[in-house]
Amino acid sequence: MEKCLFCKIIQNEIPVKKVYESDKVLGFEDIGPQAQTHLLFVHKNHTEHINEVSQYDATQLVDIFQAIRSYTQENKLEKEGFRVVTNVGKNAGQTVFHTHFHVLGGEKL
Ligand code: AMP
Ligand code: ZN
Repeated sequence: MEKCLFCKIIQNEIPVKKVYESDKVLGFEDIGPQAQTHLLFVHKNHTEHINEVSQYDATQLVDIFQAIRSYTQENKLEKEGFRVVTNVGKNAGQTVFHTHFHVLGGEKL
């Protein structure tokens, strides 16, 4: 089966600007920023979206949110405020079917 785009990014087959990496989670800059700061946080295990990951292994959601906390506390984002968004399916406009959380900030949204 063809690997998904974010699995290729996780396996360093497609270059991205990484901002956070642990054994479980990767954070990187979105290629089409919708705000001054626009990052994506993904788990290294592939699932399609939040409903699949919460059924399969909800602890992965904790891994991602701990990574977001760690990153946003070490940068100005927590102090100044930020938004977390996730899309599920076509009505939400999901284009990459690997669970991911958009982290938006760096300006008033
Ligand atoms: P979504 O529409 O919620 O599925 O979000 C997918 C996001 O992935 C979009 O905001 C895209 O700009 C972003 N994206 C697509 N390809 C890349 C890439 N090669 N590197 C970084 N971000 C990407
Ligand atoms: Zn994937």
